[in-house]
Amino acid sequence: MSYTEEVYARVVEKNPGEAEFHQAVKEVLATIKPVIDANEAEYRKMAILERLVEPERIVSFRIPWVDDQGQVQVNKGYRVQFNSAIGPYKGGLRFHPSVNQSILKFLGFEQIFKNSLTGLPIGGGKGGADFDPKGKSDGEVMRFCQSFMTELSKYIGADQDVPAGDIGVGAREIGFLYGQYKRITGQYEGVLTGKGLTFGGSLIRTQATGYGLVYLVNEMLEHHKKPIQGKTIVVSGSGNVAIYAVEKAHQLGGKVVGMSDSNGYIHDPNGINLDVVKEIKEVRRGRIKEYVEKVPSATYTEGKGIWSIPCDIALPCATQNELTLEDAKQLKANNCFCVAEGANMPTTLDATEFIQENGILFLPGKAANAGGVATSALEMTQNSMRLSWTEQEVDEKLHQIMKDIFVKCDDAAKRYGMEGNYVAGANIAGFEKVINAMKAQGIV
Ligand code: NDP
Repeated sequence: MSYTEEVYARVVEKNPGEAEFHQAVKEVLATIKPVIDANEAEYRKMAILERLVEPERIVSFRIPWVDDQGQVQVNKGYRVQFNSAIGPYKGGLRFHPSVNQSILKFLGFEQIFKNSLTGLPIGGGKGGADFDPKGKSDGEVMRFCQSFMTELSKYIGADQDVPAGDIGVGAREIGFLYGQYKRITGQYEGVLTGKGLTFGGSLIRTQATGYGLVYLVNEMLEHHKKPIQGKTIVVSGSGNVAIYAVEKAHQLGGKVVGMSDSNGYIHDPNGINLDVVKEIKEVRRGRIKEYVEKVPSATYTEGKGIWSIPCDIALPCATQNELTLEDAKQLKANNCFCVAEGANMPTTLDATEFIQENGILFLPGKAANAGGVATSALEMTQNSMRLSWTEQEVDEKLHQIMKDIFVKCDDAAKRYGMEGNYVAGANIAGFEKVINAMKAQGIV
């Protein structure tokens, strides 16, 4: 058995029932195998892979809070501090009923490589709770966030661990979390990113993941001489990442014709009217099906199936494992030539393989959605400097970071004879930097 296979087998054995974590480790280990094989004796002796797949620390805690009826509710919270070789732990908080340790470990593991790819000094972490903000009043969300932060504040800090938003955690939640951190610690520091602009937030952070995704897609398509202009695009989800991916895609001349939420999807052959989507999702926190009441050219279909809409470019921006092998086959049948992951691991392993084997250009989430965390790191920099950069300054830095990420992925893939395989390129480039730092820091 090769070293990577041995380590993967041990991960499965020692982390039973953590399917998402196994999946993320499997993909990374399979693609960095050429690097490992070239340095096997040294890496084995230093137990590099064993250390890489074991989080430095996981905290899990009880979150008691009182709902509007006076009933006490209890949720479970976590913070996975996966790897701090290249900087303080950095990664979002997810509030969703599906949250469990496996999902947060997969996300924290991926975050190590993503953060490394940005070129900025940030380690990998992730956290969250099995709390569902949907349908809760502002007061309930605030009380939950305060209870969550009362516990989390013991483990985070501006130079230690800097959480951000993710599914179910947007500007409202970050505001409540920040207020409670400040109240408990008395510190006004950049301990969270995605903050409001009046208290240390960065311009462009809201847009960053979606914009960054489309910047990277554009970079890759220009490299392959297939510009985004005039292309038909489908974007799943209608949350933070999806909305700003649509905005940037439209700005660059693409036409987005489909979006979704967890109930169903809309198809608007005339091109999605993003103002309508923003009003439904950002202002009223409503459902995507309401779009058809405002835009008669559109249709709504309940349930899954968004990938049956014909498109040139597919951007999965909702959640993990939302694009399956069947979906990939459907995309291929409809002549889709590019899939780029706005969400984390939205494409199943067999779908990713099918996509790559069938010559469809593919950008993995680690590279494609790194613009969010990169801009979070820019927010940390501004907080440390006690300065605020202009929208243009931040956007230019984000754009440059995404261009650099493409070059790093492309170069790393070429160095190992896998030209055009950006999954391998992203994993190898991210891995090399982290491993060099781990080696230099001794056995810790
Ligand atoms: P939001 O909560 O803003 O939006 C999530 C969207 O996905 C919503 O439309 C939601 O629908 C839909 N969705 C969530 N769960 C499911 C599900 N199980 N099935 C179908 N649809 C679902 O989250 P974000 O936009 O912030 O995050 C989306 C993805 O991008 C996640 O994978 C996240 O980890 C990743 N990401 C986010 C970053 C960021 O900066 N926000 C940075 C990097 C990655 P509904 O409203 O019905 O729940």
